[in-house]
Amino acid sequence: MLGAETPPAKLKVIVTGGHPGDPEYGCGGTVARYTDLGHEVVLLYLNRGEKVCPETAAAASANVRPGEAAAACAILKARPMFAGQCDGHAVVDAAHDEEFRRLIEAERPDVLFTHWPIDGHADHRAISALSYSAWLKLGKRFAFYYYEVSNGEDTLMFLPTDYVDITAVEPRKRAACYAHASQSPDRFYALQSQVTRFRGVESGHAQAEAFIRHAQSPYHALP
Ligand SMILES: [Zn+2]
Repeated sequence: MLGAETPPAKLKVIVTGGHPGDPEYGCGGTVARYTDLGHEVVLLYLNRGEKVCPETAAAASANVRPGEAAAACAILKARPMFAGQCDGHAVVDAAHDEEFRRLIEAERPDVLFTHWPIDGHADHRAISALSYSAWLKLGKRFAFYYYEVSNGEDTLMFLPTDYVDITAVEPRKRAACYAHASQSPDRFYALQSQVTRFRGVESGHAQAEAFIRHAQSPYHALP
């Protein structure tokens, strides 16, 4: 859809995140709204939340996080994908850049969301950089948005351009975040709720998710 001024009627949406749970915390309400409208959504995680890198067969079978991601995606009617990197050891170099571009190209997205690049976690900065590079290399032909997670600890200096009202779907977002039971959801969901309530105050809703739309996105494509 290079150069298109309007998005296709049925969207393919990719939300990239450093770890299992990041797309759900940052965009879970927006994802639920997309899938309720019949759009297709993929949550693409940079790693599987491994404790051991590279992950041994024994460690992989003991790793609960891919299963938590699958449960979260089922709640949001999305599909999980993993980009094959290691938790806490993200690599951004020419080879990984090319590998990630191929992954994105094969999925043919109409919209892509990723972490805002000013972030306390190196894995978040890495997938943000890989996603942006893929968008540039693929000719900026799909809409590109940044999202926020765990503000103050992770995302910083985020000034939204766009908002999505998630009030009606917040219970499903909450359930998807709580599917990541190994990741202290009481603590992190409380923090993320402060963010969505504040974004709601800004945008005139009870709760909202906020985004920064890249100024060169070919079209607007939020639900
Ligand atoms: Zn993360």
